[in-house]
Amino acid sequence: MMRLFAFFFILGLAVPAIAQPEAGQWHGPEERWKTDILLVVAHPDDETAVGAYLARAVFDEGKSAAIVYCNKGTGGGNSRGVEQASAMGLIREIEARRATAFLGIDRVWFLNGRDTPGQDVMRSLQEWRHGALLEELVRIIRLTRPEVIFTWLPHFVAGENHGDHQAAGVIATEAFDLAGNPTAFPAQITPPREPLDIGNATEGLRPWQPKKLYFFSDASHPVEGDGPAFDLAAESPSKNVSYLELGLRLGLPHETQSDVSEVSEDALRQEDPRSVPGYQQRFRLLFGKSVMRCSPRGDVFEGIRSGPAAFVPPPGYQLPDEIPAPLTLGGPFAFYRDFWPAHGIERVADLVSPEIEVSAGSYLHIPLLLYNPSSDTATYNLKGRVPEGWSIAAGEGVVRVPPRELMPVQAFVDCPGEPTPAPSLLRWEVRKGKESLGSVRLNVSLVEWALPQ
Ligand SMILES: [Zn+2]
Repeated sequence: MMRLFAFFFILGLAVPAIAQPEAGQWHGPEERWKTDILLVVAHPDDETAVGAYLARAVFDEGKSAAIVYCNKGTGGGNSRGVEQASAMGLIREIEARRATAFLGIDRVWFLNGRDTPGQDVMRSLQEWRHGALLEELVRIIRLTRPEVIFTWLPHFVAGENHGDHQAAGVIATEAFDLAGNPTAFPAQITPPREPLDIGNATEGLRPWQPKKLYFFSDASHPVEGDGPAFDLAAESPSKNVSYLELGLRLGLPHETQSDVSEVSEDALRQEDPRSVPGYQQRFRLLFGKSVMRCSPRGDVFEGIRSGPAAFVPPPGYQLPDEIPAPLTLGGPFAFYRDFWPAHGIERVADLVSPEIEVSAGSYLHIPLLLYNPSSDTATYNLKGRVPEGWSIAAGEGVVRVPPRELMPVQAFVDCPGEPTPAPSLLRWEVRKGKESLGSVRLNVSLVEWALPQ
């Protein structure tokens, strides 16, 4: 403040009536930013995955919503024009803003996660600079103080299984557990020294504990779990069309993504939009967790009282009680085995058994972990079993594992050239001498085209 006063004296002007807030004066968070729902997704168009629900919440239930896109979708193809990469990102940002404007949602943020097409959540987290993005999302939660957070299911599934979708779900879950913790990113919640002056380094936010966390999935099959459901064919009393139709209209502005905009347009031209491929009559969110007493299948806002909730620490990572099995799936499968209980969302573990979708004619990578619980080096023999037409390129044979070591083994399988109607079961077994110590299984859907692993 002193510098500002000096500036006005130099100019020979009267000192204006800029003052510090009175000592002890209460300055609560700004109500303009408070939201009921915060949607955390990866790309422009991801909001359409919950579009019908959002339409019902904002048009007919009086709920407010805000949206975070972790990136601008610069990695996809452009079905409308020649622009690509960063230039297409500029377009997709506006397409997403047009879509959200249809719902009356203008509190929309785009973060700096780089669009990373693939199925590997670790690659997305690496490209996004995981910690920086988490800090930004915690900041947005503290600013918008959501009652509930919706995000992609942090799980490995057969389907699009986009690494960016998974990364959005992972970071949103972490942020749910950190935003109420005053020791996490403390500069965000430190009061600014001179709020009406320039150059304040701290942000003046407050810790905020969101109350409920819900997921949705990009699997190519229905994922059945607990969660609130509603009928998409039901008519919106304020708009006089079905929620399905409102959800489809949300897809129209995404013109660079014809698999969204044109499919929506075609469906809206039909006499009955329910003829759209993949239509399911009931829309169901997947319950993640709640810090309020509620039923997982109950309404999204069941049990929620206004005002802040007390911070509920997540269980955190605990060393497992049991000795690891000699052979387990590694990579993202191993990560999620630790991640779910650390964040108190074990309920999502059994929604899907190990599975993946890969392109016909490509190869499949199966990350494995071998564990030797003994105090001597163990000699294991790995053997894969694959259906006819598949061929094992790596990941079999003798492996020596040092005492009490967890050793990664990367198996690779060449896939048949034609898609198959049903998933194929691939199995890997570990033996010590003639004794089988265990095996792992993976259901593999061979399709025309899938994201690279
Ligand atoms: Zn996406």
